[in-house]
Amino acid sequence: MKKQDVVVVGGGFGGVKACLELSKHSAFRVTLVANKPFFEYYPMMYHTAAGGSKTVSSIPLGEIFKDKRINIIIDEATKLNRKDKTITLKNGQTIEYKALILSLGSITNYYNIDGIAEYSYGIKSLHDAEKLRKHLHDNLQDPIHREDRYMVIGGGPTGIEIASALPGYIKHLRKKHGVRGRGQPKVELVEAGPRLLARMPHSVSRALSRRLRKLGVKLIFQKPVQSESADTLLLGGKQITTKTVIWTAGVANNPFFKQNKFIMSDNGKVKVDQALQAWPGIFVIGDNADTEYSGMAQTALHDAVFVANNLIRHTEGEEPLKYKPKKPVHVIPVGKRWAMVAWGNLHFYGRLGWLVRKAADWIGYRDIEPWWKATNRAMSDTQLEDECLICATKVNQA
Ligand SMILES: Cc1cc2nc3c(=O)[nH]c(=O)nc-3n(C[C@H](O)[C@H](O)[C@H](O)COP(=O)(O)OP(=O)(O)OC[C@H]3O[C@@H](n4cnc5c(N)ncnc54)[C@H](O)[C@@H]3O)c2cc1C
Repeated sequence: MKKQDVVVVGGGFGGVKACLELSKHSAFRVTLVANKPFFEYYPMMYHTAAGGSKTVSSIPLGEIFKDKRINIIIDEATKLNRKDKTITLKNGQTIEYKALILSLGSITNYYNIDGIAEYSYGIKSLHDAEKLRKHLHDNLQDPIHREDRYMVIGGGPTGIEIASALPGYIKHLRKKHGVRGRGQPKVELVEAGPRLLARMPHSVSRALSRRLRKLGVKLIFQKPVQSESADTLLLGGKQITTKTVIWTAGVANNPFFKQNKFIMSDNGKVKVDQALQAWPGIFVIGDNADTEYSGMAQTALHDAVFVANNLIRHTEGEEPLKYKPKKPVHVIPVGKRWAMVAWGNLHFYGRLGWLVRKAADWIGYRDIEPWWKATNRAMSDTQLEDECLICATKVNQA
């Protein structure tokens, strides 16, 4: 039987899961085009940025697909030719497909605010997290220009996660770098709206605000960010001196879709039909697709399994199934051993929430690797890895 060429673009949640599902079936020849050689597990990126091990937030694609029949190409897809059914890569290579699955994820949106793209930090990739971590160490190593005010922008899950991890990490770094007598680090979380997690009930916002304040995070509401320079942030008309602005306040769809003339919804996501097709044979999944719960890893995984299953059904002469969105569970860690869980109408907090979060991470890893590897990975969240010269020397001396 002739194998069907399926090309998957994007080595994130949706793309990796789609490849794993299709690799179980001998009818397909699967090519994965990924612009990075590793998969990024975003839910733990805040942890890596705050000194945690990189193994919890990134996994080499070669490791995930070891012993799997997947052809991996590390490059960026740039151009789609629907008529010829080909996709062109940055290096000029053109690949033919019978079915194409696009799962390119979202990009950071800086809303054209002056200086933000240039000077702010983020945690949208491993590179971002490492850059932020290095900056935190460098800042403490500079006794003259050291600036002890850390501004996190965006009162959504990512902003809450990183803001809650910073006070503890900065105190830990101060100790390692021998910086004394400075009181509580000034970590401030800025939200342009009136409360945290605007889409959740008010009681959830209140509980998270209380928890963050307890951890030493100051909350600033209804103050829009106006501009940033190398050492200042203009916020609600007031100039703040800071060298650390962490931008978590916006995402936008991947520009690939606009460049390749996909039909978009008003929210900037790609319009898809009930089979998640944007065009015959072209499936768009995860953050890119305009589905009810788009924007969550759980949705990308669900979409990938759905599309792969329909492709398998097709080879077996069965009718495709219709897409049913799956409501995700929201679990937001806020400081050590504390998390908020929103499971349907049920909300709970604290250590029990933390246990749910640990289980969710294990399931997240388990979705893409065998259970024993997932268990090791989930357990390595207690390891710290500070590579800066001062910290490394202290570790060696200890
Ligand atoms: C900090 C953070 C924390 C999060 N926490 C949670 C959480 O706790 N729970 C949850 O459910 N969701 C969470 N999310 C959201 C979740 O990570 C996304 O919804 C999910 O990653 C979407 O999966 P995807 O496959 O659509 O995109 P991604 O996982 O982003 O994968 C897209 C991949 O495609 C690559 N790519 C982009 N363009 C190209 C190109 N032209 N050619 C080749 N490759 C390309 C990208 O580099 C990336 O590797 C979080 C997101 C962030 C940023």
